[in-house]
Amino acid sequence: MVTILFHSTIFGPIHSRRLGTSLGVNLSPNDGKVCTFDCIYCEAGYNSQGAGTSGLPKRENVSSQLEAKLKEMKYAGEQLDVITFSGNGEPSIHPEFEGIIDDTIALRDKYFPNVKISVLCNSTRLGDVHVVNALKKVDNNILKLDSAITETMRLIDQPANPSFTSEGVIEQIATFGNQCIVQTMMLRGFHNGKRVDNTTTEEIGALLKAYKRINPREVMLYSIDRKTPEEELEKVSVDELNSIADIFRAEGISVQVN
Ligand code: SF4
Repeated sequence: MVTILFHSTIFGPIHSRRLGTSLGVNLSPNDGKVCTFDCIYCEAGYNSQGAGTSGLPKRENVSSQLEAKLKEMKYAGEQLDVITFSGNGEPSIHPEFEGIIDDTIALRDKYFPNVKISVLCNSTRLGDVHVVNALKKVDNNILKLDSAITETMRLIDQPANPSFTSEGVIEQIATFGNQCIVQTMMLRGFHNGKRVDNTTTEEIGALLKAYKRINPREVMLYSIDRKTPEEELEKVSVDELNSIADIFRAEGISVQVN
């Protein structure tokens, strides 16, 4: 199994296909993975690798490390488009997530007032009011919805909570409306001998209904870019992603393909 972990709390800047020049913030351990999903395409590998020994970074350490990096970049005249919360797991699991977002907004305003703040969130913690509050404060609140059909979502995302359903999370995401961007990973292949394919007519129809219900600012469609822990997965080409996007666009949904 291939695993690519970020070994620091602040990483990059890196060039992101979706977001531009991005400084990353990893609120998970530096030597392990912590996530409420266990996606078969996760670039950080499966959760079974363990959470490591370093623990979650403390709020004050996130803030001081981020400030040091922003200061360095500002005085070096470096370009920056976005500060992105991603890394080795789900950022909203961090118990001080809302406070860390507040600190990040203050630091952004001080050093790079035009830079956006993005959070890549897997949507599993939308029942927590502090998580919802934090996500409403950022510029790009990017929420995962890989399938509007629970059985498929469970196969692709492998949620830790056995009662997590697509129907339930669609209603939670819908409370954000145009204060969110919905991100969907399109893929095909096999997992544990079962066919996985969220590009079928049935899947696209269910996603269309979900996107209409949510009414997000934008939908981001993307596919596999690097090696995945499940090796029997197939990348969906950009041409095909655009054909799928056109189905949604025809219904008035703004779609970005990466
Ligand atoms: S939600 Fe993100 S970090 Fe978690 S398993 Fe899926 S891809 Fe990996």
